[in-house]
Amino acid sequence: MSTRRKNIRKVDTDVIVVGGGTAGLVAGLAAAQNGVDAIIIEKHGFLGGMAASGLAWAAFLDENGNQVVKGIPQQIIDRLMQLGGSPGHLVHYLVLSRTPVNKELVKIVASRMAQEVGLHLLLHSLVVETKTSQNGRIEEVIVHNSSGKQSIRGKIFIDATGDAEVAAAAGVPYEKSKSLMPPSLLFELGNVNVDKLLDYLENHPEELEAETETYKTYTHGYKVVDYVKRSYRKFGCFTVSAFRNLIKRVERETKYVHPKGYLVLEKIPISDHILDVSTRVFVDATDAEDLARAEIEAHEQMLRVVDIYTKYIPGFEEAYIASVAPELAIRETRRIIGEYILNESDVLNGREFDDGIGKASHPLDVHAVTANGKDDRLERLKKPVDIPYRCLIPKKMDNILVAGRCVSVTREALGTVRAMPACMAMGQAAGMAAALAVKKGISPKKINTEDLRKLLREQGAIV
Ligand SMILES: Cc1cc2nc3c(=O)[nH]c(=O)nc-3n(C[C@H](O)[C@H](O)[C@H](O)COP(=O)(O)OP(=O)(O)OC[C@H]3O[C@@H](n4cnc5c(N)ncnc54)[C@H](O)[C@@H]3O)c2cc1C
Repeated sequence: MSTRRKNIRKVDTDVIVVGGGTAGLVAGLAAAQNGVDAIIIEKHGFLGGMAASGLAWAAFLDENGNQVVKGIPQQIIDRLMQLGGSPGHLVHYLVLSRTPVNKELVKIVASRMAQEVGLHLLLHSLVVETKTSQNGRIEEVIVHNSSGKQSIRGKIFIDATGDAEVAAAAGVPYEKSKSLMPPSLLFELGNVNVDKLLDYLENHPEELEAETETYKTYTHGYKVVDYVKRSYRKFGCFTVSAFRNLIKRVERETKYVHPKGYLVLEKIPISDHILDVSTRVFVDATDAEDLARAEIEAHEQMLRVVDIYTKYIPGFEEAYIASVAPELAIRETRRIIGEYILNESDVLNGREFDDGIGKASHPLDVHAVTANGKDDRLERLKKPVDIPYRCLIPKKMDNILVAGRCVSVTREALGTVRAMPACMAMGQAAGMAAALAVKKGISPKKINTEDLRKLLREQGAIV
């Protein structure tokens, strides 16, 4: 890799990963581990993206408790466990498994692993332009950062931006739903008396979402509060959806209409902190002006929700806002059109594919696109579904792969593959495929998928 140490203006490398988030981090690690020069370009000052948001990583396990994602994502969890940053994979009554992580330690583990494999990092750097040639190839991306404008040239590009920023700019066709799943502003409340909260829930089981008719079938008669209590005692963590009745009462008393209709609480691995995942704003996050409006709206909404916690919910009387995410967490924007589009039937039936490069087991989890969460959809799969390599290969362009939530799937299938372990599995496959393509001097489209699957297995992934 030819770089100048200070004020780099031009970089020439093998593999360029744009976006160092959930999928991109793993893609960069996989490319570098497989012996090519690789760089991650990331707009924030840390690696991890949504994987470093504080949310538990969902569905490492399937319905029967079998692990469906290993490889690099598991290595990250192992490292976190060594640092006390995760209790490991916890079985969850509704969404199969949750793997709580300490978000600050995720960032540290990510940068340590990147350094160990010689992965180059360009942080605080926004890719603003993609330059293509006549023959369907991306030649370079242009980056803006405090050093100015830089040209980063490479052989293979991996778009892991979540929004398919590079692919879309290069002319790759994509889909974007008319109504998009709404983003949330994640925030943590500190100084929560969790025992008091759990006692209240034990005495008010009607407030637990999974005890209601919609989700009853999933709990197999299991008492949710027992699960929550056991999980808390043993691991200090749990995720629970609750307080629909209370929200209705608040609506009657204050006329404030909560856009989700109930609260989603995540007890994270920090002693008295609860992460809230229940704010909702309706926006197309690829429209900058609308996104600015939504960020402001979400912050106002957060204050209303904090009021609900502190005024109405036992255990939160003395709680305060401990942290707020640096930006909205985006569920859905562009999905590229690739060589195959994974669909709802594939996912629900747990279809196997000859070119499967990873598995996803998270239920088909599509959030309502209107206020009050009435159209939320959560359906379990018959068995884990294979993610075909073709979903990572965009139509038209030759030297680009896509990984993460912007891959080639329908919006229903996205409900399953957007879970973090699946995004990471895609990242590992994309990074490895990019390295193979560089070494063989071919397009990722021409990779022998059996070779790729064999290599993935050898490096610990489940295919
Ligand atoms: C509110 C919410 C709750 C969720 N809950 C869960 C959950 O509990 N468990 C679970 O497993 N999954 C959950 N998900 C889904 C999951 O978090 C995401 O689908 C997944 O993390 C997406 O991974 P990604 O790599 O595609 O995107 P990200 O992790 O967002 O990474 C994209 C990266 O690209 C960078 N980037 C973007 N554009 C550029 C650019 N132009 N230049 C440079 N860098 C750029 C971003 O800064 C970011 O770091 C949730 C999602 C949301 C929004």
